[in-house]
Amino acid sequence: MSRNIVIIGNGISGVTCARSLRKLDSACKITLISAETKYFYSRTALMYVYMGHMPFENTQPYENWFWEKNRIELVHRFVQKIDTSKKQLHFSDGTALFYDSLVLACGSKSNKFGWPGQDLKGVQGLFNYQDLLAMEENTKGISSAVVVGGGLIGVEMAEMLHSRGIHVSFLVREKDFWGAVLPKEESKMIERHIREYGIDLQMETELKEIKGSEKVNAITTSKEQEIPCSFVGLTVGVSPNIEFLKSSAIPLDRGILINEYFETNVSDVYAIGDCAQFKQALPGRRNLEQVWYTGKEHGETVAHTILGNKKAYAPGNWFNSAKFFDIEYQTYGMVNASLKENEATFYWEHQDGKKSFRIVFDKTTQAVLGFNAFGIRMRHEVCDKWITNKTAVKDVMNKLAAANFDPEFYKYHEKEINNAFQNQLS
Ligand SMILES: Cc1cc2nc3c(=O)[nH]c(=O)nc-3n(C[C@H](O)[C@H](O)[C@H](O)COP(=O)(O)OP(=O)(O)OC[C@H]3O[C@@H](n4cnc5c(N)ncnc54)[C@H](O)[C@@H]3O)c2cc1C
Repeated sequence: MSRNIVIIGNGISGVTCARSLRKLDSACKITLISAETKYFYSRTALMYVYMGHMPFENTQPYENWFWEKNRIELVHRFVQKIDTSKKQLHFSDGTALFYDSLVLACGSKSNKFGWPGQDLKGVQGLFNYQDLLAMEENTKGISSAVVVGGGLIGVEMAEMLHSRGIHVSFLVREKDFWGAVLPKEESKMIERHIREYGIDLQMETELKEIKGSEKVNAITTSKEQEIPCSFVGLTVGVSPNIEFLKSSAIPLDRGILINEYFETNVSDVYAIGDCAQFKQALPGRRNLEQVWYTGKEHGETVAHTILGNKKAYAPGNWFNSAKFFDIEYQTYGMVNASLKENEATFYWEHQDGKKSFRIVFDKTTQAVLGFNAFGIRMRHEVCDKWITNKTAVKDVMNKLAAANFDPEFYKYHEKEINNAFQNQLS
């Protein structure tokens, strides 16, 4: 009899797993469950819907007929409880479903840290479709907002609000913007850029209290300042969405504990994507990987193991991309906020303060370890190959044109970058 595989979560990791299973096995039964939306959509595009760049339907990468054609059954319901001894899921509407193999791809939820007033109307995070609808409702006709938390989602929220002419105060606890990830120069460039948009960026400032009776009307900060506002965006990170698993036998920590095969301690139960926590992180990686492209890699890999072909997670070089208002950001390999003992760096910034390029390399071997590009697009496969092949930094500089994504545009800076390299290294 064909295997009955059930996946909870239709985000990038769950969907990639479903698609990979179908590619590898035409016979298995695949059920994809989500309480959020019936059809998969690109979470990273939520901001563009709010800003009016596209309708929500255009965030769906597949046509609605795709699922039936590939015999992936969609269930739009909330799983309340899992009984692993009977291999059964219980939905909030009282119905139940059996599985042979279960994949938990249940993603993240926005953090809240128990601030007074955090449940007032007009206070919310941004993670799912329901948050987008709430944001539409909560920001109708308002003129001022506060965003708390200087990560990638915070910047997006600030840009979204700004696009509707809403004045934004942006509170960031750290000294440097996204300082746990970005080196100081890049961090300062982004701070300047955010301020150029008229955003009231307040560094080293924390939220103390949210005020209002039913609806928010002000906040106070750790610097005892009161800021009147009609909306508060809480973007202080995300954590694995695992509340509904607490009554199950599946071992949990911050996320669902797994080994390198995405297996939990319970047989035939796997976890992938934002909700999965490796018991042992791979060298140079974190044990929670909460980004889009790693979710995809998790989904592709676990499909092999579920179908009996055990495959350990062996991710390629780290990659991530994002946007800070107008400045696009790409990072490849290992670029840490501060250099490790064996590392040296080269940094170039354009005089307009909106483009920069960094290489981190090994002091002894000269092999490149990572790249940061702001406002410049690089070719992923070229940068990736340089890192994998441990190419010497001088060779990379000589061949920089090979990484041009847009040759005409990039050529303009190449000479300048090379000159800066010669100057800095001499
Ligand atoms: C606004 C925003 C911008 C982002 N931008 C970037 C970016 O630029 N680059 C990047 O790499 N990453 C970005 N991310 C992060 C990225 O989107 C996530 O890492 C990724 O979507 C996680 O995918 P996932 O499949 O693990 O889970 P999710 O996409 O979270 O999907 C999990 C699904 O499971 C459902 N679910 C959970 N529990 C249950 C249950 N009990 N019953 C039924 N359904 C359930 C949820 O409702 C959800 O639909 C962004 C995230 C947000 C919110």
